[in-house]
Amino acid sequence: MNYQTDVCIIGAGPGGALLAYLLAKQNISTILIERSDELGKEFRGEHLNEDGEMILKKHHIFEEMESLGLLRMSRVEYWKDGHVFKTIESELGHAGIHVPQHHLLQSINNQASIHPSYKLMLGTKVTELMQNEKGQYTGIKAQQKGRGEIIVESKIIIGADGRYSTVRKLAHIKNNIHNHGYDLLWAKIPAPANWEPSIKFALVEQQQVALFSQAKGFIQIGWNIKKGSYTSLRKQSVQPFLDQLILPFPQLKESMEQNLHSWKDFILLSVYSSHCDTWVKSGLAIIGDAAHTMTPTGAYGMNAAIMDADVLSQILPNLLSQGSLKAGNLKVFENARRKTVEDLQAQQVVTEDSFMEKFTNSLKTEKENLTLY
Ligand SMILES: Cc1cc2nc3c(=O)[nH]c(=O)nc-3n(C[C@H](O)[C@H](O)[C@H](O)COP(=O)(O)OP(=O)(O)OC[C@H]3O[C@@H](n4cnc5c(N)ncnc54)[C@H](O)[C@@H]3O)c2cc1C
Repeated sequence: MNYQTDVCIIGAGPGGALLAYLLAKQNISTILIERSDELGKEFRGEHLNEDGEMILKKHHIFEEMESLGLLRMSRVEYWKDGHVFKTIESELGHAGIHVPQHHLLQSINNQASIHPSYKLMLGTKVTELMQNEKGQYTGIKAQQKGRGEIIVESKIIIGADGRYSTVRKLAHIKNNIHNHGYDLLWAKIPAPANWEPSIKFALVEQQQVALFSQAKGFIQIGWNIKKGSYTSLRKQSVQPFLDQLILPFPQLKESMEQNLHSWKDFILLSVYSSHCDTWVKSGLAIIGDAAHTMTPTGAYGMNAAIMDADVLSQILPNLLSQGSLKAGNLKVFENARRKTVEDLQAQQVVTEDSFMEKFTNSLKTEKENLTLY
């Protein structure tokens, strides 16, 4: 089956979905391709900071998301031996928002579906890029579940397909990886009764443990472990590991005992950041994690993808109408975003390096512009 469109976006994560909506709203024919059978199936971050919140409010997506359910975090706390020894309150009135990704993507898709120029293809995995004789990208080939190969011809391809981007690889864009010395174990447990929505940090064996309150009464545990150590950890019993977690947070004992029984209850996130040599080629651009994977520190990744989409949606319509989709023209987008993203990545390193200091400073309550880790 063959399709034709102005813009073909690969990946319906926060970046790709928002860009598709913002373009379709401007009457630009847009096909959004997602390999999963449903939106929000991929495991990804759900903590929205003020940058992401601002963009979603600007485009009237926030209201619907709020009606589906989200949770505002009231403050950040540092814990030791079952007690808070430092609290940081945000000048913004909240310390980030937990938004279940299903609620975010569903709200964007609901708004986008109103526009006839928007088409979403689920269960469709991009496998090849097409180019003309001048090397300009002209479309994609994909495998669609139950239907076989499809071809989408487009004026521009957008790779919004995440940290392991197929589009980036197929376009031979070099991705430079920077390790941060740690990986992350994630687990989700029901929150005990009367659990206040907050972000709680502790040090366990000199490694950071973070608890994020979530909408609908859950807690997301983010546990830093030494980079590459998971294989050997998994060979040990999980119980001593769990016992250590209960030391700073004894109120979690019951929920942990009921819900965490083996390593299978944790998900490993390989933590790294990356920057690509370029974000654009003729007829192609990459956005979000595909262009710049971030570490979880500060919850910048999803927010940065959302901001990329917002900026590109303002630049692309003019370039499309002028037929100027060469790499040199598309660089306007990269130039508008790259420095901000790289500054955030540098900030992540500073925050990670200074985390231990938060545990050596004296007992106090602070008001500051929060970074979440
Ligand atoms: C455990 C974890 C916690 C995190 N916590 C936070 C947080 O709290 N806040 C925050 O801001 N960021 C967080 N991040 C980072 C955040 O999840 C990412 O930065 C963000 O999801 C990037 O959005 P994206 O749209 O660029 O790509 P993604 O969200 O990765 O979406 C890419 C999409 O492309 C699809 N896809 C991939 N290949 C193909 C293909 N060949 N064909 C078709 N579709 C394809 C995938 O199925 C996926 O849906 C976290 C990340 C992880 C893993």
